[in-house]
Amino acid sequence: MSTSDSATLHFPDGRSVIVPTGLFINGQFVRGKAGKQFDVINPTNEKRICSVHEALEEDVDIAVEAARKAFDTVWKTTASTERGKLLSKLANMMEEHLDTLAAIEALDNGKAFSMAKMDVGLSLECIRYYAGWADKIHGKTMDTNAGQFAYTRHEPIGVCGQIIPWNFPLLMFSWKLGPALATGNTVILKTAEQTPLSALYMATLIQKVGIPPGVVNVLSGYGKTAGAAIASHMKIDKVAFTGSTLVGRSIMKAAASSNLKKVTLELGGKSPNIVFDDADIEQAVAWCNFGIYFNHGQCCCAGSRIYVQEGIYDKFVEAFKARVAKNVVGDPFKEDTFQGPQVSQLQFTRIMDYIKSGKEEGAKIELGGERHGKEGYFIQPTIFSNVKPDMKIMQEEIFGPVCAIAKFKDEADVLQKAHDTIYGLAAAIHTKDLARAINVSNALQAGTVWVNCYNMLSHQVPFGGYKQSGFGRELGKYAISNYTNIKAVNINLGIEMQ
Ligand code: NAD
Repeated sequence: MSTSDSATLHFPDGRSVIVPTGLFINGQFVRGKAGKQFDVINPTNEKRICSVHEALEEDVDIAVEAARKAFDTVWKTTASTERGKLLSKLANMMEEHLDTLAAIEALDNGKAFSMAKMDVGLSLECIRYYAGWADKIHGKTMDTNAGQFAYTRHEPIGVCGQIIPWNFPLLMFSWKLGPALATGNTVILKTAEQTPLSALYMATLIQKVGIPPGVVNVLSGYGKTAGAAIASHMKIDKVAFTGSTLVGRSIMKAAASSNLKKVTLELGGKSPNIVFDDADIEQAVAWCNFGIYFNHGQCCCAGSRIYVQEGIYDKFVEAFKARVAKNVVGDPFKEDTFQGPQVSQLQFTRIMDYIKSGKEEGAKIELGGERHGKEGYFIQPTIFSNVKPDMKIMQEEIFGPVCAIAKFKDEADVLQKAHDTIYGLAAAIHTKDLARAINVSNALQAGTVWVNCYNMLSHQVPFGGYKQSGFGRELGKYAISNYTNIKAVNINLGIEMQ
């Protein structure tokens, strides 16, 4: 591939970096077989950053062949300690390139550079964490009947397809890659069409640290073509998907009607953030702000429904408004920016439509509700109060800087309200009463519950959904079971068949 198959990215501070734009297959950057490319747009100014090569079905086939060969001939027999070493090297290399990775992420996704740096830090820690797991994955021995002996082996599944969204491009890349490689699988990872660039840069680091060709293949492409080809591929053994519930359902159907590949899904949410009247209000306000407006509301676990106990409702709404009004919206590369633009024109339009529907259905606008500025996909942080249970903005995932506040009476009332959703990804409770915190946490239908905080994620702690927010767990030891098959070996110690 010629050097013209790369792009020079220019950052506002005058620095620049070269990123390959090809598909990363079998350790090389190559053009898509059909020769198609698509544009990557800067959400801050709506201008084209560069074009990248587009993967179609035929490219997925080629990547699958490479991943299969790498699995059979190299990776599954590579010593687990060696796999761990390579992942550690990758984490170290990410640390060396932290600023560059963060700048690419801020340019491509629009997230604040300071937040992007946090993302890179979390991503490399995740890879390092799974590097540590690589040589600690083993089965058990079982006491069985006399004359028999049995043990289990936790074996890699094989070739894994991984499809990720655009809201945390590098973090999702790492959550997927870490456990898959540590357990000895090979990977075809499709990035989101809105944000392919940080993964392409990561592919250069994967080359540099010497992860064997074919172990990791990175494809830029669209969901309906490359994504669907992964989900329905006969030679992919497992698909891990993060994205919307709508697409998650189609992934599961495609897996079922092709080769019944294993499926794990991390899907949408409409998470309740519950403030009891005994909470530290100042802290509850700060965490609720972070819960919904972090990453511009583009978090699957965003605390988008805020329920406040009636005794403190008015006081909370006033304090919350004052706090949210201080969020600095603007250029991701400015030091004090908290909120950048939404990722794309499509997301911008979707969110503005939700704001319109909230207004039309009679919710009270406390703050925001309009576009911010004239250029870029910026939206004002928006607060709706007095939101009724059946309003669209209370039921549907908005995936933007918009929250819905409502009142509740007591624990029973708030649990009924919290559960009035198809989702069950996360929830939070703010209270000083320990017994209440534990009782309500136990009762909540959510894969993650935060007490007196929000969005606190750690690579040691599992993350995933109840209900239509998906199944399977990412992070922690739990993610390892998503990437291993358990084999039971039964040995005869001398029983003779008559
Ligand atoms: P999306 O589901 O449309 O896209 C996500 C990914 O799936 C992209 O890579 C896309 O190209 C691909 N895709 C789209 N259609 C496909 C198809 N038919 N077959 C295979 N792949 C396909 O999601 P979006 O609207 O771009 O992203 C936002 C959604 O993602 C939100 O609903 C959010 O809650 C969810 N999300 C969930 C998590 C989580 O961890 N639970 C994390 C991030 C985002």
